[in-house]
Amino acid sequence: MRLRVLLLFMVGLAVASCVVLIVSQLNQNNYLSKISLSSRQKALAEELGRKMYDIHRQTNSGADLANATDDFKLTLNRWESAQKALITGSDHYGTRGDNSNASQEMLQQSSGQFVQGRDFLNEYIAQPQAYHIAQLDSGMVLLEGYIGTINNVTGKFLAESELQGQVTTTSIVALACGTVFIIIFGIFLTLRPIRKTFEETDSEIEAADEKVAVALSAKAEFLSNMSHEVRTPLNGVIGMSEILLQSKLDEEQRACARNIHNSAFHLLDLLNNVLDVAKMQSGKMEIRKERFVLSDCIDQVIDLLKPLAHGKKIELMSDLSPLVPLELISDEHRIRQILMNLVNNAIKFTDKGEVVIKTELVNSENGFIQLEFSITDTGIGIDPDKVEKIFDSFYQVDSSFQKKYSGSGLGLAISQSLAIELGSRIKVQSKPGHGSTFSFSIVAEVSGAEHKEKVNALQGMRALVIDDNTTNLKILVKQLSGWGIQVTPFNSPQLLTDIMSNLNKFDFVILDMQMPEMDGHSVARTIRPNFNIQELPIIVLSSLGEHMMADRENLYNAYLTKPVKQSKLLDTIIDVMKVSPMQRAKLNLQSGNTDILAQQKSNIKILLAQDNDLSRAVTAKTLELLGHKFITVTSGKEVLEKSRRDEYDIILMDVKENDVDGIETTKQLKRMVDEESMPVIIGLSSDQKKDKALCMEAGMDDILEKPMRAELLQEKINYWIIQG
Ligand code: ADP
Repeated sequence: MRLRVLLLFMVGLAVASCVVLIVSQLNQNNYLSKISLSSRQKALAEELGRKMYDIHRQTNSGADLANATDDFKLTLNRWESAQKALITGSDHYGTRGDNSNASQEMLQQSSGQFVQGRDFLNEYIAQPQAYHIAQLDSGMVLLEGYIGTINNVTGKFLAESELQGQVTTTSIVALACGTVFIIIFGIFLTLRPIRKTFEETDSEIEAADEKVAVALSAKAEFLSNMSHEVRTPLNGVIGMSEILLQSKLDEEQRACARNIHNSAFHLLDLLNNVLDVAKMQSGKMEIRKERFVLSDCIDQVIDLLKPLAHGKKIELMSDLSPLVPLELISDEHRIRQILMNLVNNAIKFTDKGEVVIKTELVNSENGFIQLEFSITDTGIGIDPDKVEKIFDSFYQVDSSFQKKYSGSGLGLAISQSLAIELGSRIKVQSKPGHGSTFSFSIVAEVSGAEHKEKVNALQGMRALVIDDNTTNLKILVKQLSGWGIQVTPFNSPQLLTDIMSNLNKFDFVILDMQMPEMDGHSVARTIRPNFNIQELPIIVLSSLGEHMMADRENLYNAYLTKPVKQSKLLDTIIDVMKVSPMQRAKLNLQSGNTDILAQQKSNIKILLAQDNDLSRAVTAKTLELLGHKFITVTSGKEVLEKSRRDEYDIILMDVKENDVDGIETTKQLKRMVDEESMPVIIGLSSDQKKDKALCMEAGMDDILEKPMRAELLQEKINYWIIQG
């Protein structure tokens, strides 16, 4: 309201100043004309005086006066009309007759003098010969009186004009102020609605954002529920097809079963990826900090992906720098997820050669380290102009319908987001046809001293390492040297015959099973007649499947499956060198093959509790395949009843399904069975991450994720039974 009044006032002020400005401008012009006219009058009076004396001189000299007299009269007329214009105003001279009182008074006075002067001059010019110089002087006095008064008039006009100038300046200032205010106010008035529109739009956007957040969260929740529901039947498909693949099938049937198995895995992968994307979009992807062993994390990736690599006859290797502290605090799950994606891609897009996971220490300071992971393959590589795009969701370099490589195009987008959450970005170096290197770094806290103790125990030992694959040999040398072991590497087993007599200089031998000229088995057979199993332990590295062959001749002290897990290699060496008997017991089983394990473990009593028929059938078949005997039940109640009557070594049961509530059953078992005869309880869960804490709290010993993998189940059984 007040603003409106102010606006009106300002508009009024501007209009008034405009009027004043115009008027004062006109007055200014009037005054300028009057000033010049009065100055002219003075000049004319002086001119008339001068001419009067001139004519007088000419009269005395007897010259013709006609011209001079005419000129004199003309000047006199001009003087007269200008005097009128001064007093009454004249369009011709641009003057108005609106004189101020003071100037009017002076003009009156000048008019009196003017009349006297004019009359004198008229009389003079009528008869110039009749005047003598003294009379002219008295006329001149009259003119000077007039000139004096007209000087005063000019001064007055100047003063009044100056005053008028001040009025003009003031009105210009007022006009400028009014105009500026009006412009500002106009802008304000125009902007106000715009600002209002912006504010409204802002709040609309905020409301829409909130809706989007709610929708995204609902989507994530829906997908999470859906994925749980889909996972159970999918577990069945994966498990059953795995079992089907172990049975006798003709070629066509095997191809079908393999396709079912691969498609189910692909579906599971897709499900996990879509779930991750939804979680990221709704900001629910939190980064956790937990203590973990880095080599185990890398080994798990290798364990899961080595069948894929071996299936394509690709070497999969881990090159973990010995400088990297093994126990760290960071988000193991996320690091593993990135590695899984990158290594999986590396294998997928490589048809021949090798994939190396390299882990290096970049920096270390005050208990924190920076690590760089790089995954290098010898695969198809990526065109430089596509490198940036591969991190976009659903982008695939080859997205044609008949594309050769499967995938959803989400893996790298997810991995990049995870890497960003962990504080870095994934970088790519690639050459089409030659392979790619994907790398990222993390900062983690260092923890744990157990690893150091183990490594100390190996200081100064001497090892002979024989492997024809130079990359593998280099990695082994680097790992062993990092633990303080003196290594002699051989890339050809033939060389061994040359140093046979010097073999006693070595504490143990690491041998690759698969070598073209002379396989590991033959090498071991050459060594054994001279050095028995205690004198020179032999650790064999073999590809998946080969170690299934029993060591009937008792040539080796331990088997390890390639790629070699670093932690396992360390434990194996400690074991074969009898550094720690406890470790040895554990290792004997861990490194053995499942055939041998099956014989050794036929005495283990296992109780399996799952209410879902399909899931139960899958686990039962897996246990059968691994050579275990077991009893199945379908409810928690039955678990308690059976345990009351019999003693079991292991109970495998669902964490939470309709009739088997593993958590509750475990709690009751803990109350019912005494410590000594307590079986090892392993929970079966479709979301290990979510259930782990709950299981441990209830008193379970371990947890296994579904879909269950035979090797992992066997590993858990080995671990718990031997430790127990
Ligand atoms: P996908 O499920 O297709 O593997 P990703 O997001 O993991 O999805 O990868 C996107 C695309 O990037 C792939 O389809 C492939 O074209 C390319 N790519 C990723 N890793 C590699 C690699 N190691 N070698 C060659 N191309 C790769």
